Amino acid sequence: MKVPIFLGLILIVLLIVTRVTRFKQKPEPETVSYIPQYLKSIPASAFSACGRCETSWKYTEGHTTYYSETSGMFPLCESCWQQLTPSERLPYYKKLYNDWKRMGDTVVSWENIEKAVLAGN
Ligand SMILES: [Zn+2]
Repeated sequence: MKVPIFLGLILIVLLIVTRVTRFKQKPEPETVSYIPQYLKSIPASAFSACGRCETSWKYTEGHTTYYSETSGMFPLCESCWQQLTPSERLPYYKKLYNDWKRMGDTVVSWENIEKAVLAGN
């Protein structure tokens, strides 16, 4: 009757080793460096994300498009922004603009945003 217990122990050890290995293979993605240290403990789900690849702003930097001298927006990460043409980018800006409007922002003008995006900013 000692053999089944021994096999059970091996199985448990194997399970632990598998878990440790899996954990090592999938490390937490590197947090981008501009995020202050005190924010790094906040879960990625607390940040909003790129409108295309949905990577949390905790792990990637947005491409900021300035639509006025002082105001900008970043619906896309730098990588997605580079993969798209200006007209392909437009729907992601429109969606964020509509989200802002839904939240009560009436100051931002869509015409300014559209102009900036189509100009390749
Ligand atoms: Zn992206």
